[in-house]
Amino acid sequence: MKLAAVTQFLKEQKQPIFRLSQVKRAFYVEGITSWDGVSTWSKALRDAAAREIPWDELKPLKTQVSSKGDTVKTLFELKDGKKIETVIMRHEGGRNTVCISSQVGCAMACSFCATGTMGLNRNLTSDEIAEQVVQMRRWLKENGNAHVTNVVYMGMGEPFNNYDEVMKSVRTLNDHEGINLGARHISISTCGLIPGILRLADEQIQVNLAISLHSAVNTTRSKIMPVNKAFPIEKLMAAIETYTRKTNRKVFFEYLMLKDINDSEAEAEALIKLLEKDRRLYHINLIKYHDTDAYTSTATPSRIRFMHLLQRAGISVTHRITFGEDIDAACGQLAINEYSGELKQGIQAAKASRAEKQAKAAIKT
Ligand code: SF4
Repeated sequence: MKLAAVTQFLKEQKQPIFRLSQVKRAFYVEGITSWDGVSTWSKALRDAAAREIPWDELKPLKTQVSSKGDTVKTLFELKDGKKIETVIMRHEGGRNTVCISSQVGCAMACSFCATGTMGLNRNLTSDEIAEQVVQMRRWLKENGNAHVTNVVYMGMGEPFNNYDEVMKSVRTLNDHEGINLGARHISISTCGLIPGILRLADEQIQVNLAISLHSAVNTTRSKIMPVNKAFPIEKLMAAIETYTRKTNRKVFFEYLMLKDINDSEAEAEALIKLLEKDRRLYHINLIKYHDTDAYTSTATPSRIRFMHLLQRAGISVTHRITFGEDIDAACGQLAINEYSGELKQGIQAAKASRAEKQAKAAIKT
């Protein structure tokens, strides 16, 4: 739903602005699926709106549920025919976390990530970002009347490479007239774009910040994440310290465990040293990787050993359970299905080199 279009329509129709609140309520709260359902509007007004403004911006094309039933992935088509994916992770105890996309593709070219091999196609609008939550809520409602409890910006795209629309969508999700999701239940994950971290520090909104770190050693990190060449670890940590000083909020570090890449004792020691300054505000999520042609997951005993090294050093760490491997919905897997034909034809390398060029250009802007 394009909220700006509704506002403009109401202005043209000389309607009071509370009509916008009525539509927001129907769309975000009541889960109504067409203009016909806006019972607080007259039929004539509904019909006029329906002629001008599509109710939905996203069309669900395919929804898959993992064999364990804990993960749901939907492929959406946007109005221009482009496609994105959104995932629900269903935790024990009733929490439902929706993992949303902020871009079609991604320019950051992280070598372990399927989305990164696509390159950047375009930014999503704030309406397209927020509507992913609305659509997944509809699915939850139809399948057991469950609710969305958390939202993470960890799907396709680098949120801080689309900063303004992402923050606008956060405010839409947080809006008390809409989904009314508390900011503390929203997490934004970045691969380390320093300008975005510094801007977030001044936003006066209590969303969580997650950093895709994946190594505390510059040579390792630069190999797997081109962004590290522009924003190396020392500069990244300086920005994070500014963020924690200004917000006093905890920062979460994501660490995908890649066999023989970032799982050695030396890597654990580098991580311990990196986070020695203010442990109180740092938390590490160790994440199991899902094997691809490029990387293999660290075996469970080695992951546990790595975790114990961090714990013994007094670092707050969790070993994150993984979701949706069998439907390609886990970390780094989004978009594999859509592009698997091409990947099999061996053009992944060409895409990665194109994406790396785009990453360099995006980092400059
Ligand atoms: S991990 Fe995130 S930032 Fe890196 S390429 Fe994938 S989507 Fe982009």
